[in-house]
Amino acid sequence: MSETKNIEKGNFTEEVKEFIPPSHVSTDPYDIEATTGDLSLLPKYHYKFKEEFKATHVIRPGNTEELSKLMKKCREHSIPVTIRAAGSSCYSASTPTKGGVVIDMRRMDKIHNIDPANMTIKCDAGISWLRLIEALLEYGLGPKSYPTSYKSSCVGGFVVTSGKAGVGVLRNGIMKDVIRSVVFVKPDGTVETITKDSQGDLSFDDIIGSFGIFGAVAEVEMEVTSLNESMAYGGYGFNTFKTAIEFFRILKNNDTSKPFFLSLSDKSFEKYAHWTYPARAYFVFAVYSDTPSVTSQSVSFAKDTASKLDGLAVEEWYLKEKWRDIADTEVNVSRWCQNLVFQEYLVSDNRVEDFYNFYLEKTSKQRYRNAMYVMSGAKGENRIKLFGLSDIANSREFFGIKAVFNDITNYNYKNKDSLYTLGVVNTQYFLKYNPERADYLRKLKNKLDPEDLVNSYRLVKAKMRPWRLGLLFWIAKLLYKTA
Ligand SMILES: Cc1cc2nc3c(=O)[nH]c(=O)nc-3n(C[C@H](O)[C@H](O)[C@H](O)COP(=O)(O)OP(=O)(O)OC[C@H]3O[C@@H](n4cnc5c(N)ncnc54)[C@H](O)[C@@H]3O)c2cc1C
Repeated sequence: MSETKNIEKGNFTEEVKEFIPPSHVSTDPYDIEATTGDLSLLPKYHYKFKEEFKATHVIRPGNTEELSKLMKKCREHSIPVTIRAAGSSCYSASTPTKGGVVIDMRRMDKIHNIDPANMTIKCDAGISWLRLIEALLEYGLGPKSYPTSYKSSCVGGFVVTSGKAGVGVLRNGIMKDVIRSVVFVKPDGTVETITKDSQGDLSFDDIIGSFGIFGAVAEVEMEVTSLNESMAYGGYGFNTFKTAIEFFRILKNNDTSKPFFLSLSDKSFEKYAHWTYPARAYFVFAVYSDTPSVTSQSVSFAKDTASKLDGLAVEEWYLKEKWRDIADTEVNVSRWCQNLVFQEYLVSDNRVEDFYNFYLEKTSKQRYRNAMYVMSGAKGENRIKLFGLSDIANSREFFGIKAVFNDITNYNYKNKDSLYTLGVVNTQYFLKYNPERADYLRKLKNKLDPEDLVNSYRLVKAKMRPWRLGLLFWIAKLLYKTA
């Protein structure tokens, strides 16, 4: 039996319109269709639930009070809720899995306060990072850490997906380190301010990385940093992964001057992400932002280190363009095929080579086009994104690539690392490899949301049955002849 709730539209819709402006209470099929997927734009044959469990409403609250009333109303009517910001985290994280209401957070985009004396900002969670950056710029300030998807993605999305890699993270810490407090709306509509010392039902740790299962982050107070007077880039090509990762690690662990942004990519990634690309097989890109003297020391340090490792300097214009287009680089890869498949891994510093060797072993006999992109997280961690470019008409290839990623995922978990983003489609791995944490979250979820209405099928129960996926990947390997 379908789990989609048959919402008695008339009643519910009219009741909601009493506290949210009618133009923001949408049952328009176009609005609804737009929320069934995310940036991954995967075909229908991938996740059928996207078609089967479409929302009936897309509702845009404008402030915490409206959000709270909306959550309460959904609970009264037992209507499933999906919280959605920009939809850039993919893996169906912000896609409805039971129908019901999609709460689009992006109307909650106000800045409440910028406090230069205390170096903090308080804002709504639905504000995009770009707007936040623009507002802070007027005060000579900037966010401490933010994702490279900053042009579209929202503050709340980075909080609940855990924000462990991105711009500024290596220097200033992950999202959890820079947040002072959040105003949180629970599934029953109650509003609570949660700080690092909170003693209530929910702690900071429960919310960070929660994928919205306990309710919505409505407002965020976080630390900001002063904008430094200078910015400079270092970019070097390497012939081997060994020297590239050694260089990457040296820059990462140089405590006197940490890059503001640091990445390592293979040649295919550079090729797919830009209109031209460096000559060598691997490319390490570092962005420094500090006082002029520290920045110039950092750049010299990178240059000296690269020369010892036979790194070839990449021209300045390429580095400038790379930084200017950083928000587009991952998206650009999708322009080379109709059906981009990807998986993101959280890999510890000391395992990156092992991870890469396993990846090479798995892909060496493959016919599909692939690419790899490492983004530094805080000390000790990295986000590694693997791409497979597949043909929309060739579902066999698509599932073959998924089977390769599945092997790499299992290998990564068995070696004590994990996936970077869970969402709906990766929850099954979390349940398999982190049963104790999942159990803890499930108990909390049952307490706060006994009917399992809010952001269901993330972290505490899986949409896909593991045996079906196992069988699917097994068949895919046979048909696609993967390693
Ligand atoms: C080009 C590109 C670059 C990227 N770069 C990075 C990067 O540098 N670092 C990184 O970590 N990720 C990165 N990502 C992934 C993604 O952009 C981030 O996870 C981003 O923070 C998601 O924000 P969003 O507004 O799109 O959230 P969505 O994708 O809409 O939502 C993400 C999850 O959070 C929930 N949610 C959203 N808002 C709230 C809220 N207010 N309260 C409760 N739950 C909520 C949703 O239900 C969903 O489960 C990138 C993605 C792309 C496409």
